[in-house]
Amino acid sequence: MQINKAQFVCSSERLSQLPKDSLPEFAFIGRSNVGKSSMVNMLTGRSGLAKVSGTPGKTRLINHFRINDSWYLVDLPGYGYAKASPQMRASWTSLVGGYIAERPSLVGVVIVMDARRPFMPADEWLIHFFSDKTHVRQLWLINKCDQISRAERAKVLAAAQKRARETGPHIFVQLFSGLKKEGVEPLQETLLSWIDPEGRLA
Ligand code: GDP
Repeated sequence: MQINKAQFVCSSERLSQLPKDSLPEFAFIGRSNVGKSSMVNMLTGRSGLAKVSGTPGKTRLINHFRINDSWYLVDLPGYGYAKASPQMRASWTSLVGGYIAERPSLVGVVIVMDARRPFMPADEWLIHFFSDKTHVRQLWLINKCDQISRAERAKVLAAAQKRARETGPHIFVQLFSGLKKEGVEPLQETLLSWIDPEGRLA
């Protein structure tokens, strides 16, 4: 996939602020430091694009980027902060939960995990959070796979695929390394295979 245009569109702290058009969208989420910003930059070929999501004040917002004027890449706020107050958790749940429940143009969610420690409690919590949303596809993207050996990669992938099969047909699994630029095209291909050429949901 050729990305010709990638633009930051808006940051939303309330559902009423989300873009009003209905371009198909893919949401990215992961524990902090899992490599999500690097991945967004890699995917769009624009280093620095995701920086905006990391600036203070923006980390708890939903950030929309319009790609090729035809779909949105959505950076969702982090979750599972050990030190988060009940109030912060409640506001995350209402914002992200509301977004997931009320966004018909949401095609899929990319849950980014660390290959060295996939399925941490915070990852599990998120997967559970999406468990009744079977209309939204999930890609479990196992990042930083450069940090583990070939044999370990095969093991991690097989275990994740087994779990995906047990969870449902809407779950997909891929390995990725932002550092080594591995898995970029397969990731793009998976996302685009979920929408048809006219932009409708496949
Ligand atoms: P975010 O908090 O999830 O947005 O994570 P960042 O994209 O800011 O990355 C967190 C750290 O992980 C940084 O030090 C990156 O250089 C590093 N990182 C990102 N992707 C990879 C990767 O594929 N492999 C390795 N080894 N490190 C990575």
